[in-house]
This record gives sequence, C-alpha cells and structure tokens, in this order.
Amino acid sequence: MSKLRFRVVETAFKKKPVAVAVPAERPSEYFAKYVFNKEKMFRYLPSKVYAKLTDVIDNGAPLDRSIADEVAAGMKKWAVEMGATHYTHWFHPLTEGTAEKHDAFVEHDGKGGVMEEFTGKLLVQQEPDASSFPNGGIRNTFEARGYSAWDPSSPAFIVDDTLCIPTIFIAYTGESLDYKAPLLKALRAVDKAAVDVCHYFNPEVKKVVAYLGWEQEYFLVDEGLYAARPDLLMTGRTLMGHDSAKNQQLEDHYFGAIPSRVAAFMKELEIEALKLGIPVKTRHNEVAPNQFELAPVFEECNLAVDHNMLIMALMRKVARNHGFRVLLHEKPFKGVNGSGKHNNWSLGTDTGILLHAPGKLPEENLRFITFVVNTLMAVYRHNGLLKASISSATNAHRLGANEAPPAIISSFLGKQLSQVLEHIEESTKDDLVSLSGKQGMKLDIPQIPELMIDNTDRNRTSPFAFTGNKFEFRMLGSASSISDTNVMLNTMVADTFAVFADRLETAGDTEAEVKNIIKETVKAHKRIIFNGNNYSEEWKAEAKRRGLTDAPTTVDAIAAYLNPKNVEVFEKHSVFTGKELASRYEIMIDRYVKTLDIEARTMLWMTEREIIPAAINYQKTLAKTVNAKLAAGVSSKAETAILKKTAKLTDDAYVKQEKLADYLSEAEKIADGYESAVFHKEKIKTQMEDLRRTCDELECNVSRKEWPFPTYVDILSSVKY
Ligand code: ADP
Ligand code: MG
Repeated sequence: MSKLRFRVVETAFKKKPVAVAVPAERPSEYFAKYVFNKEKMFRYLPSKVYAKLTDVIDNGAPLDRSIADEVAAGMKKWAVEMGATHYTHWFHPLTEGTAEKHDAFVEHDGKGGVMEEFTGKLLVQQEPDASSFPNGGIRNTFEARGYSAWDPSSPAFIVDDTLCIPTIFIAYTGESLDYKAPLLKALRAVDKAAVDVCHYFNPEVKKVVAYLGWEQEYFLVDEGLYAARPDLLMTGRTLMGHDSAKNQQLEDHYFGAIPSRVAAFMKELEIEALKLGIPVKTRHNEVAPNQFELAPVFEECNLAVDHNMLIMALMRKVARNHGFRVLLHEKPFKGVNGSGKHNNWSLGTDTGILLHAPGKLPEENLRFITFVVNTLMAVYRHNGLLKASISSATNAHRLGANEAPPAIISSFLGKQLSQVLEHIEESTKDDLVSLSGKQGMKLDIPQIPELMIDNTDRNRTSPFAFTGNKFEFRMLGSASSISDTNVMLNTMVADTFAVFADRLETAGDTEAEVKNIIKETVKAHKRIIFNGNNYSEEWKAEAKRRGLTDAPTTVDAIAAYLNPKNVEVFEKHSVFTGKELASRYEIMIDRYVKTLDIEARTMLWMTEREIIPAAINYQKTLAKTVNAKLAAGVSSKAETAILKKTAKLTDDAYVKQEKLADYLSEAEKIADGYESAVFHKEKIKTQMEDLRRTCDELECNVSRKEWPFPTYVDILSSVKY
C-alpha cells in the first residue's frame, strides 16, 4: 500500500497538461452548435410553426399541441444530421443531479427494416416511474405514475449521440417532483406582479424577465489521489486529514496564474460549454489551493438554472480527460475555504434592466428605488425561506465560518444608496430621490486613465449585496441546484409587488402613494440593511439587537417549508401547494439524515479497516525496535515515547469508533424523520468530529510510509503548477 501510495503521488506530480483540440472556427461561430435554438428552429420548422413556437418562448403563450408533430419532425431532422441516434427527456428530480433515459429514434418501417422516428407525442410527454425518485411520500411504488413534460422555453440540445429535451417532472396527481416546475411557476408569478408595478411608471411594459448569473466554485483533485481516498469516493469530501503547514495563509492562490494542467481542462470545458450554448466568460483561481471558479454571462433565469446543471455534469466529464476529478462539495477540505455558488439576480423588461443604477430622470429613479425597496422588503419578510433554500448537510460546513457569509441575512446597499434611503425616510418634501451615476476619480499616476468609480463599494461579506445593477446572494452551496433559491426569491418578490400594486390600485394620487409606501417600507425594513463587516462579532451582537435571526441549524432552517405563513404565500402565487411543500421538507430531512449516515459509515470503514490496522502495524515495528535496542543496551527513548502515544491514540480511536457504530445502530431505530435528523446532528456528527480529531493526531504520529491515505500535503499541492 505505502509504495503504491508514493507512486500515485509521484505520478500526480509528473502529469503534463493534455493537448486540447481547439476548433478552427471562432467561439462566436461554434457557439450553440449543439443547441436547437431559434436559428435552427427557423431553418428546420415551417414558418407558421416557428412563429407559434417563438410566441410560446418569448411571450409565454400557451403551447398548442397541434404544432408538436411538426416541431418533433424538425428537431429530429436536425438531430439526426448532427449524428444523434437517441433522444431523452432531461429533467431535474429532487436529487443533486439530472435524470435521463435514452431511447433510440428506431421504429419498424413496415418493410422488415427500421427507420428514424420521433413524434410530437414523444416530444411533449413521457412517463418515468415517479416512485423511484425522491417524492416525499407523494408517490408509492404501487401507484408510481409520473410525467415528464416538454419545457419549450429551454432549448433542446445534443450530448454525445443523444438529443436532450428539457422537461418538467410531475406526479400523476399533478404535484411537482422536480426543481423546474416550481421555478417556471415562480417566474410567471414575478413576471405578472412586476408588470403590474411597472405599469405605474411605463404603461408600455409587456413582460418582466428574471435574470440570473451564477458563479460556480469547484476543486480539482488528481484522480490517482482521489481514488486512494475512500472518503472522497463515497462522500465528495475528506472526512479526516491533518492540515498541511501551508495552505491559503499567504493568499497566493486567489487570481494566481492558472496551473497549466488546469488551464487545459478549463479550455476544453469552455469549448464544450460554448457548443452547448452556455455563454461561459470568467475563469480564475479561487482562494483555496486546488480551488477555481467559472462564471458565464447572465441569462434568463430558467435557462441559467439548466445551464448550471449542465455545466456541473460537463465539468465532471471533461475533468476525466485531464486526469482530474472535480469536487463540487461545499467543504472538501477542513482548514481551507469551501466552495459556494453566487446567485446574481435582477429583473428586466423589454425596455431594460430594472435594477440598473440610477439615471438622471426622477421617474427612473423612483422606479429604481421602488424595485430596490420591494426586494429589500421581500428579503426582510421572507429571509427564512432564503435560508431554507440553501440549507443542507454539506453547506452547513461553510456558512458562518468567515469564508462564506454568516447565517444572519442582511443586505448591503453601499453608501450612496443607503444615504438615499435615509434621506427618503427623513424627507418631508417631495424631492424624494436625487442620485448621481458614476463619478470620475483622478489618480496621481499620469499614464493611468481616469477611473470611473462605482456608486457602490464591494462588500464581500454581505449575504445579499446590491452590486450596481443586480443583487448578489452569496450563501448557496456549490453542489446543489440553484433552482430552489430562485423559486424562493422570485416568489417572495412577486408577493411584495402584489401587495404594493394592491395599495396603488385604490390610491387617488398614485405618485404620492408610491412615495408613501417607499417611505413606510424603508422605515419598517431598514433593519435588514448592513454595510459593515458581516464576519465581525460586533455585527452578530448588533443583528441580535435589531431582531434579525441568526440561521438556525440546517434541520430547523428547513422547517420554513412548513410555516403556514410561507405556505400561504406559495399557494397565493400558485407556486407550491401545502402538500408539495410538505413533501419537499420530508425529502430535505431525509437527505440530511442519509448524507450524515453515509459519511459516518465511510468514516467507520476507514478507521476500522485502514487506520487502526496501520497504527497497529506501526506499533509492531516500534515495539520490535524497542526490544532490540534494549537487548543491545542502546537508548530507545524516542521509540518508546512514540509507541506509547500511538498506542494511546489507537485505543482512543477504537473507543470512539465503537461509540460511533453504536450511535448508528441507535439511529436506525428512530422512525421520525425530524428526530432522526436531530440525533444525527447532535450525536453522530459530533462523534465524527471527535473521532476525526484522534485520527488526525494519529496521522501526525504514524510514519508516513505506514499511513494508508494520501494526506492534505499530497492532495493540495498536486495541481499547483
Ligand atoms: P464577481 O466580481 O462578483 O466575482 P463575476 O464577474 O465573477 O463577478 O460574476 C458576476 C456575474 O453576475 C456574472 O455571471 C454576470 O453575468 C452576472 N450579472 C451581471 N449583471 C447582471 C444582471 N443585471 N443580472 C443578473 N446577473 C448579472
Ligand atoms: Mg466571481
């Protein structure tokens, strides 16, 4: 084992970047090559069908099933020309990944042969077995029917030989069993409510679109080292491992030169992403060793969510061509930063982005302030939902640990905007809003051009920051779907808009009423604004004084799904029914329990079968040496001390491991989901941390040659250059 381990480490260090085949065309030419986008629809569909379909996509018109056959025929023709032989409904069940079941285009041709066939019926709807996916008790194995149904607002695409059709996934009884159906409903709700509000400022507005730009963080690990760590294989994170002396203290990784093996991986990933129509733009080294980030240009929210799911799958696939494994886990290594996903969100109309920093016209400023204030109110009133949407066993490792925003939700607005809101609150006159755009800043270095200073600074510590033309929510975990957060955010905002519009409807002087509402809202909700350091202890105390709640534990945060106040909001906007929310709660609790269960079992496995035997072996060698040295009349002070310490730690590890095993057996007997989750958190998680401390100490005592796993030093320095 040990020799093999050294070879694995050595091999990882010696690996060279893989040559990437770069297309002869420019990115703008191969962009969306594998996507049945409007350009292809125009070429492959009859013009009447094209017009109807684009009306569905652009304006949310109801889908006329009579065009399905012609769309299917056009799609098939394109896909077959591109070399596709199969098709699949591609959907997002309530797991961490996507689901697909491939069918060939093959049908009998009636002459003893086969032909390629694809009909409207197959395009529009299929019937996966709903009981085999997480459904929170909505489906039983004996009544398993579920449907996947085509979402024309996200274009079909080809991966390898398969045409993938984005679909929603619902039960036979109509409840959503996926991440997409509620998102589409929330987007419809925010569109409707925001259009009503927009009409007070501009009667021409027809549609409001939610935009989303995500930033995805991830780790890369050499696949040889990955394969030698059962914890990475089973759980995606290291369950033990002593810190390496140098990790991120010198701040030399963030924005550092991208290691050449990694650069090759990124290049291939970007080429493949662009071909799939994902507009990837930004890449850089992140804070921790082996950690990187990728961000595309923002897109319509539903499409952006699909693209995030697609990129995570693509990353895993491309990494293997480069001898890497991608870790999307929120906390793969203790002692260095974990990975998150930032959610840049804004609303826009056919006339422009609504959250765009202020212009010169007072009406524009009033509209801008209206949208900002409504968003703040939504975040204030429903912050429990935002927390629930990002809570998971894995994300719990990074929140509040000075590497991700703390669990208290507040919003950063920056100096200027905060001053404007203060002015509004105090003003008795009508001169409600006067804002300036970017100002120039002259530097005393002549060859550097004048800089345009934004009217907001950056605040990296804020969970929900206004960043010029969007709000950036920073608490999401790297591995999960971003759909839930956007379901919450858009429904919450839709709800505040609806309340706002209701009040205006009955007002005589609407402009005066808009100003009144803004003023009241600022007064009532400004507690949510915080522009200082969110990582500081002072803020925690201050937040408490303001009555802002710290995030409860994951298990309790999820309970927001059951809160009658929240159920009412979701039912009012037809996003979720109470039954759907209850099923989601159950699924999240179940996932929490299972995640910890798998981790605990993996840890036991590693301790029982690898670490304790290795420590025993090492003690055998030491004991032999002590005896031999005694016989030879030579001092064995060092060996005796190390032997004693190793023996003690081995005993400790054994006792702690037995206790963990007992807790696992005890947990099996707990029938209630919530109780089991609490038990897992309080007993099993705590016991795992205790066992880890002993194993990590043991790692420092046992000879490197005997230690069965690659260490943090091995893993976190393997992709440096
Ligand atoms: P940061 O400085 O926060 O790391 P990045 O450049 O990595 O910024 O990512 C910012 C993300 O925000 C990108 O995906 C970008 O397209 C997106 N974005 C920019 N403007 C908007 C907007 N109005 N609405 C939504 N997302 C936006
Ligand atoms: Mg970024």
